[in-house]
Amino acid sequence: MRYQSTRGHPDRKHFSEILLEGLAPDGGLYLPERYPHFDTSGLSALRAVWREQGYAELAFRILSLYIDDIPAEDLRAMCGRAYNREVFGSEAIVPLKPLEDGLALQALSNGPTLAFKDMAMQMLGQLFEYELARRSRVLNILGATSGDTGSAAEYAMKGKQGVKVFMLSPHNRMSPFQQAQMFSLQDANIHNIAIEGVFDDCQDIVKAVSNDLAFKAHWHIGTVNSINWARLLAQVVYYFAGYFQATSSEAQKVSFAVPSGNFGNICAGHVARMMGLPIERLVCATNENDVLDEFFRTGTYRVRKTAETHETSSPSMDISKASNFERFVFDLLGRDGQRTKELFGHQVERQGAFTLAPEEFARIGSYGFVSGSSSHANRLETIRDTHRRHGAMIDTHTADGLKVARQWRTDGVPMLVLETALPAKFAQTLVEALGCEPDRPAALQGIENLPKRFTVLPADVARVKAYIEAHA
Ligand SMILES: *Cc1c(COP(=O)(O)O)cnc(C)c1O
Repeated sequence: MRYQSTRGHPDRKHFSEILLEGLAPDGGLYLPERYPHFDTSGLSALRAVWREQGYAELAFRILSLYIDDIPAEDLRAMCGRAYNREVFGSEAIVPLKPLEDGLALQALSNGPTLAFKDMAMQMLGQLFEYELARRSRVLNILGATSGDTGSAAEYAMKGKQGVKVFMLSPHNRMSPFQQAQMFSLQDANIHNIAIEGVFDDCQDIVKAVSNDLAFKAHWHIGTVNSINWARLLAQVVYYFAGYFQATSSEAQKVSFAVPSGNFGNICAGHVARMMGLPIERLVCATNENDVLDEFFRTGTYRVRKTAETHETSSPSMDISKASNFERFVFDLLGRDGQRTKELFGHQVERQGAFTLAPEEFARIGSYGFVSGSSSHANRLETIRDTHRRHGAMIDTHTADGLKVARQWRTDGVPMLVLETALPAKFAQTLVEALGCEPDRPAALQGIENLPKRFTVLPADVARVKAYIEAHA
């Protein structure tokens, strides 16, 4: 399998070449040249793998279709180390929790940082360590985080050979729990840098350092952002695992509702559907930052300005543009790289927006996508209602998903709502909704009292570079 850019660049690359890269040279995103396809008997065979050998082997079977430059036994061993009971707390890894009327939550948040980003990041940690050793290379990951991504990256990379993490976060602006999750890590290869500023300052510093190409090359600076194809690929697996749990035969269909921000999670669902998984609907759920909902309703994709971006109680979905969205549009346009380049490389760059032609927009239905958005009041109501009816606590992002899922449910088709975080991570809103603190997994009791390891720096690019030089 080889990989191509969404913007028509003629190069074709192998998996291990794109693994450590970001964007393609023409600014596009990498996608496989084609999607392997399962027919009904192929799906039945895969169901048997899931039933008899479990999640890690299912992951190996799916990943190996896209990765032909890592020996099978090595890849299988990495899947086993990424997905096991010790890391994800159950044999099923992504168990279902039934709600009413064919609705169920699919738990993706039982990894070390209590958010679904662990699902991809744990695999990425394995792949990075492996590939760096094979190439006798090192990598210094530089990132900015306001919460979920940074902690998931740190827990996946801690103790890994050849990798160091330099993670910037806004000083005293994360929740005490999120801060404790990151800052309590004592591993020598993890560097928490608390910047005296806001999240945008952190992001600006990362951009400035990455734009210094000489510095970047000399210090082997890389990222783990959500456009990495390996992250997306690892997420495809749990759509299959959800389908096999919700159905008993390949004649059945399911729908998925996905709390969405950068369109990484739901794009993996799109890939699963392209591979022949019988998905009826992919429900794209947004919060007040409704860039994606607007697109699926109108065919216009309009990037928001910073001042237009709402700070919400589902903060991991607060986006101004959706960085993985170009992948879906490329497929929607019949994989026309020139047209994709015109839309994302020209129109979005110049005008901050594009509108699909009517015949292009008309195709969306055949890809299964529908959408909806929710407000803070909707989240509170959904959290309360779910607690009252089922005794279950859900987090704010999952509440966005569940609210929109209820709008799009159809009789006879199970609707799986992806649970993207545990409520313990967003305790403040849970207290607002329910008047009590959410449950916290036993291993994380008292985490706020552990010794913290972090460095405070001013929002100054030179000071951050100097820190990297001293510690890389
Ligand atoms: C990252 C994140 C999302 C959004 O996922 P995308 O892949 O960016 O669409 C939703 N919920 C939680 C809890 C997250 O951490």
